[in-house]
Amino acid sequence: MPFSQLGLSPYVLPALQQALQQAGYLAPTPIQQQAVPLLLKGRDVVALAPTGSGKTAAYVLPALQRFFMATPRKPRVLAQLILVPTRELALQVSDVFTTLGRELPRRPHLVCAVGGVSINPQMMSLRGGADIVVATPGRLLDLLAHNALSLKQVQLLVLDEADRLLELGFGDELRQILAELPVKRQIALFSATFAADIEALAAAGLHEPQRLEIGEQSA
Ligand code: ADP
Ligand code: MG
Repeated sequence: MPFSQLGLSPYVLPALQQALQQAGYLAPTPIQQQAVPLLLKGRDVVALAPTGSGKTAAYVLPALQRFFMATPRKPRVLAQLILVPTRELALQVSDVFTTLGRELPRRPHLVCAVGGVSINPQMMSLRGGADIVVATPGRLLDLLAHNALSLKQVQLLVLDEADRLLELGFGDELRQILAELPVKRQIALFSATFAADIEALAAAGLHEPQRLEIGEQSA
């Protein structure tokens, strides 16, 4: 199956295809084949897929389309939030946004809101608003406490590496963040492993999620 069959809009498909080709992505991986069409349809998704199976692009492609198709607003409103367990992962995810979005005529203002570095530059880059924020949960809550951003207009939340988010003890932070979201929002939860605590998190925030599972062998 080619990238052109995932349901991406003809408005974004040529630019995304060009960027995918430059990145050496010749065809979608199984998780991308399954998750992208569902996310484009607005479904909540719980996706279980092993490390290395291509989960990042599975949500970055729909996120880029959502950004591009939205009417630009001044100041920008935070419409998409990606939560990850570590600073390193946040930087990797924001690189994937840059790489796959590079051919779009209009590109998102993306802010990496991570701990372990000074909060002031992040507050500065959030001043005119952001389209997409890639964050670790603790720093996101710090920024909320400083009124540096609002989650009231978030349309898509991605919980990437949800298993590690919970292992690292971010459960309470995640629940606080979920409580700040508008009622009408889409949530995608990605994890390499599955356990009761993930199920509880999904039950707390997701609406009739579609479940996807990709085995090791098909990764
Ligand atoms: P995961 O989050 O599931 O661990 P990643 O999104 O980090 O996986 O992707 C793993 C590797 O596979 C990365 O180096 C990424 O660039 C590459 N990759 C992802 N999707 C594709 C694709 N469709 N074709 C080729 N390489 C891909
Ligand atoms: Mg990943």
